[in-house]
Amino acid sequence: MKCSVCGAPAQVEVRRRNRAFCVEHYREWFVRETRRNVKRHRMIRPQDRLLAAVSGGKDSLVLWSVLSQLGYEAVGLHIQLGIGDYSRRALETTRAFAAAHGLDLIVVDVRESFGLTIPELARATGRAACSGCGLSKRYLMNRVAEDEGFNVVATGHNLDDEAATLLGNVSHWQLDALMRQGPMLAERPGLARRIKPLYTFTEREVAAYAFLAGISYQHEECPHAEGAKSLLYKELLNRLETRMPGTKQVFLEQYLKKVQPALRDHSVEAEVELRRCERCGSVTTGAVCAHCKLWDRAYARAKKRHLLPPDAGFDPRPKLHFLTRSEP
Ligand code: SF4
Ligand SMILES: [Zn+2]
Ligand SMILES: [Zn+2]
Repeated sequence: MKCSVCGAPAQVEVRRRNRAFCVEHYREWFVRETRRNVKRHRMIRPQDRLLAAVSGGKDSLVLWSVLSQLGYEAVGLHIQLGIGDYSRRALETTRAFAAAHGLDLIVVDVRESFGLTIPELARATGRAACSGCGLSKRYLMNRVAEDEGFNVVATGHNLDDEAATLLGNVSHWQLDALMRQGPMLAERPGLARRIKPLYTFTEREVAAYAFLAGISYQHEECPHAEGAKSLLYKELLNRLETRMPGTKQVFLEQYLKKVQPALRDHSVEAEVELRRCERCGSVTTGAVCAHCKLWDRAYARAKKRHLLPPDAGFDPRPKLHFLTRSEP
C-alpha cells in the first residue's frame, strides 16, 4: 500500500475514505481535516477564549495538541475525579503533556471542591458512578469557563463517541438529545459554546495520530467504563464498520444533514428559558440546578451514613489550581 499523496510506503490506511498515508502526510491530513471541521461549523472566532477539557486520554491530548498547531491558544481543564490510581495517573499524564508543550492547565479536584470523590458520590447517592461523574464534569466545564472568562469549551469527542451516542438516542427515541446532538452547541448567556473539532475521526484514526505524533497518553480505561452501554453501541457499530467501511461516518453525517434539520423544523418546543441557580448562581432551567440538587442529596445521605461530619454543608464553589507554563 502506498501513500496517496507521495507514493512512499503507507503507514496508515483510512479505509472509509479509500486513502492511505505515510507518517508525514497522515499527520498533515489529520491537522488539515481538523481545521476544516473548525471552519465548516465556525467553531472558533477570532476573539474567542478557549478552554480544552483534557482527561489525559488520547482524544483530549490530540485535540489540545492539534488546536495549538492550528494557532489556537487553549487553556486545559483537568478534572480530578478521585477514581484511585486511574485518576492519579490521568493527572500525571496531563501535567507532563502540558509541561512538555508549554501549555497552561487548570486542575479542579472534585473531592477538594465538593467533599467527596466520584466513587464516594456514587455510594452516597446510590446511582451509577457515570451519572454523577457526567453531570459534575459538564457542570465544572461550564462553571470554570464562566468564572474564568472562557466562552468556548472544546472536547475530544470522536466519530465513534458521536455515532454511539446517536445510536443510543435513536434506539430510545430521545428527541431532546437528538436535537441537541452535533459538533457544536451554540453559546448562550452563561453557557459556553461547546465544540468537538475531532468529531469526524474514528477512535482508531485518533490513536494513530497520537502514536505517530509521539503523544504519550493514558491507555487504561476508567474502571467504571466496563459494562457502560456506550461500549456496547461502539461494539455494534464496529461490527458494521468492518463489513461496511464508512457506516459510522454516514450514520452520523447524514443524520446531521438530513434528519436533524427536519426534526428542528417540526419541533413545537420553544427554547427553554434560562435562569440562575439559587444555590450556586450557574445557569439552569429550574430554581436549583441539577448539580446542586445531586450534591445536596449526596450530602444528606452521606451524613446519615457517617461518611461526612454532621455539620458538613455542600459548598458549590469549585477550587481551582492554575498550573502555568512557567510552573511545570
Ligand atoms: S467511565 Fe464513568 S466514571 Fe469513569 S470517567 Fe467516564 S463517566 Fe466518569
Ligand atoms: Zn506521503
Ligand atoms: Zn447550582
